Amino acid sequence: MSNISFTSSAPGYWANEDIPHEDWNSAKWQLKNCVSSLADIEKHLRLCEEERAGILLTGTKLATAVTPHYFNLIDPTDPDCPIRRQVIPRIEETHTDPSEMADPCGEDSHMPVPGLVHRYPDRVLFLVTDRCASYCRYCTRSRVVSGVSDQKLETQWDMAIDYLKRTPQVRDVLLSGGDPLLFSDAKLEKLLSKLHAIPHLQFIRIGSRIPIFLPQRITPELCAMLRKFHPLFISIHTNHPKELTTEVHEALGRLADAGVMMGNQSVLLDKVNDSVEVQKELVHKLLMCRVRPYYLYQGDLIKGTAHLRTSISKGIEIIEGLRGHTSGYAIPQYVIDAPGGGGKIPINPEYIVESNDERTVLRNYEGKEFVYSESKSAPKLAPLPL
Ligand SMILES: *Cc1c(COP(=O)(O)O)cnc(C)c1O
Repeated sequence: MSNISFTSSAPGYWANEDIPHEDWNSAKWQLKNCVSSLADIEKHLRLCEEERAGILLTGTKLATAVTPHYFNLIDPTDPDCPIRRQVIPRIEETHTDPSEMADPCGEDSHMPVPGLVHRYPDRVLFLVTDRCASYCRYCTRSRVVSGVSDQKLETQWDMAIDYLKRTPQVRDVLLSGGDPLLFSDAKLEKLLSKLHAIPHLQFIRIGSRIPIFLPQRITPELCAMLRKFHPLFISIHTNHPKELTTEVHEALGRLADAGVMMGNQSVLLDKVNDSVEVQKELVHKLLMCRVRPYYLYQGDLIKGTAHLRTSISKGIEIIEGLRGHTSGYAIPQYVIDAPGGGGKIPINPEYIVESNDERTVLRNYEGKEFVYSESKSAPKLAPLPL
C-alpha cells in the first residue's frame, strides 16, 4: 500500500543479553534500564571527544537518560545521527550564546500559582512533573526538568486546582512538565478526574513524548482509563521519521482507537530534521499513525543549544516545500515562541506579492502569479420583478 515502512527498535544493542519479551515490553523495565552514565553509553557506542566531554560536564544542568527502546535507534558510528543528536550531550552545551536565556519563553513570570503558566486568555499550561522518560538536549524547560539543576519545579497542586476552579475564563488545560504520562494510571486518573469535574473546562490536553520514548507505557489499561475523560487531546513530540517504529505505530494506534485526538509538535533541529525531505517523510508517517502535524517550533533560545538551532529561513523553506506539494493535513504551523514571553507567533512564507484595496497579486506553490480583485462595495441591484 505504501513505500513507508515501520521497523522495530528491538532488540538492537541488547541482542546478546537475552532480555525476556515481557521485560523488554514493560515500561518499568525500560525505565529501570535507562542508559544514563558514560560507562552505560560507552558499552554500546563509540563516542567522539565532544560527546564524551559533554556527558561528563553537563550533568548538573540537565541529566542524561535514554530508554533502551529509543537508544536502539542510535547509529553506532555516526555522531551526526539525528537520534543521537537529540539525546546524547555534547561539549557545545557548556557554551552560552549572548542571546540565550534560562527561561526564554518567560514562563516563570507568568505563573499565578507555582507550576501553572497562564499566558493566554482562555488556556493554561500546568506543569505537573519535572521528570521525563529520556531527556532532549534542547529541552525548553531544562532550567527545572530532570531535577539536577539548582532551580526546582515546585508545583502547588491544591492552589493550582483551586485557581482553575475560580477562573472561569480558562476553558483548556494543557498538562505538561516533564512528562505527565510517567505518572501511574491511578495518579493520572486522580488528576484528570479533578480537572474533568471543573464545569468550565471544555477539554484537557496532555503534552507527552512517552509514546516515542517509551511506547511500552501506552498499555490497554492506560487507554481504557484515558477514554473516560473525553474530549482528550495528546500532543506528542516527534522530530524524525526513524522515531516512528513498529512499537510507536502500535502505541499511537491504541491511543487513536481510544478516541484520543493527537497532534505532533516538532522542533526544527540542525542535522536532525532541517530538510524538506526528512520533514516530508515525518509528516506522512505521522498521518499514517493518525497523528496530525500541529506545530513546527523554531528552537527556543535556551542556554547551551546554539549548536542544535537552525536559521529561521530554513523553517520557512521547509513550509514552502510542503505547502501545495503535499496534503494540507500534513503541514504543521511553523511558530516561534517569542523570547520574553509573547507566546507562539506563526511564521509563514510570503504568498502575497503585492496588495492594495482592489487588487492582490498572489504567488502559488509553483511560483506562478494570480490576481484576486476585490470590489470596493457590494453592487446594489434592483430586485427582479416577480
Ligand atoms: C503553547 C502554550 C499553550 C497552548 O498554546 P496553543 O497554541 O493553544 O497550543 C498554552 N499556554 C502556554 C504557556 C503555552 O506555552
